[in-house]
Amino acid sequence: METSTSKRQATNSMVYFKPSWEEEFFFAEHDGAVKCLVCCKKLNQLKRYNLQRHYKTYHEAAHLNYSSTQRRAEIERLKMKLLKTERDLPYAVSYFRSTIHK
Ligand SMILES: [Zn+2]
Repeated sequence: METSTSKRQATNSMVYFKPSWEEEFFFAEHDGAVKCLVCCKKLNQLKRYNLQRHYKTYHEAAHLNYSSTQRRAEIERLKMKLLKTERDLPYAVSYFRSTIHK
């Protein structure tokens, strides 16, 4: 059967997130999608043009005076925030449940 081979080839032809897009457009790959670090919008189309258009339309003005060091720091800060939010969420739900049972 050739099916598994052709499936693998189709996956290989996918476009992958490029790490440089993180610093260029404030996007990060997260849960199999690309997510805007500034407004948490998920983009389904992994194309440089889509990321660039979103960044230029909504966020570029806010970062115009940033040096590359400041951009890097801001990206790290936003990424930490994103990860923290996702990690705290299940905890918050279980805490809420345990207080109900008391
Ligand atoms: Zn955004």
